[in-house]
Amino acid sequence: MTRGLAQRIVVVAFAVALLLAPLATVAPTTATETGGFHWARKSSQFTLQVGSNLDGPWPAILKQVVADWNKGETVTFRIVGGGTGPQECRPVTGRVETCNWPYGTQVGWLGLTRLYFNDRGDHIQSATVQMNDSFFATNSQYNNDAARRHTMCHEMGHSAGEDHKSTSSCMNDSQFAVFNYLHPINKDFNELARTYNHKDSTSTVAGKQKKDKKDKKKKKSGKKGKKRSNRDRRQSRAESEGFFSPTSLPAVPSGLTGSETMTVESTEDGRKVVSLITWAEK
Ligand SMILES: [Zn+2]
Ligand SMILES: [Zn+2]
Repeated sequence: MTRGLAQRIVVVAFAVALLLAPLATVAPTTATETGGFHWARKSSQFTLQVGSNLDGPWPAILKQVVADWNKGETVTFRIVGGGTGPQECRPVTGRVETCNWPYGTQVGWLGLTRLYFNDRGDHIQSATVQMNDSFFATNSQYNNDAARRHTMCHEMGHSAGEDHKSTSSCMNDSQFAVFNYLHPINKDFNELARTYNHKDSTSTVAGKQKKDKKDKKKKKSGKKGKKRSNRDRRQSRAESEGFFSPTSLPAVPSGLTGSETMTVESTEDGRKVVSLITWAEK
């Protein structure tokens, strides 16, 4: 069998599996294939809203991570009030939602980024970033600020479309990196600049962008004391709506030896969802 034919068969089998198996993990693929995932927007520099559904040490970690990533000029993360419950961590169109919760240790993931694509499947339309407190908030090697900082930095990079690196960036996916590579580096910013160098005719990014920055006075929402109760309220709402549970997904692909994989799934309405998983060491 020629190599080309073999590849085509794999592609066809993959497409069929996508059609037949909604919400099932279709195929683990290598994370190097994440290259090219990006949000649609009409300018090369843009602002991406980050909903915070966080508590405990996480809001401070997110703030630091966002400040790190915002040293690059392409993507500017802006933290806003959360739009989902932390356990369900549902996507909100045009935004990144960040969540922490004790999601459990059975599946074994430490951090999880999901990229939800638009109808055409060519641009990210929303993203969720989840931190698993079943590891971070327990008596495990991950209960420290280095691991928290790395993982948040790593998953936030994925949410912008960033790929893995073999550099000293937080986008490095080795176990060593989890405790030692806590920040993005210039190479990451250069890659983001390349990824977003083209301009799209449409936008999948929510909120006002630089071009129309007319109304500067936005109400600062949310007092500290209120946040907690909002988070809880959103959580109970999400539970009653019965969105698919991240705790049941993704399944562990068999024979995994690396610390991370990428899976491609589809939602009930046929949209592509890419999950990027950082695994805890067994
Ligand atoms: Zn594009
Ligand atoms: Zn990753």
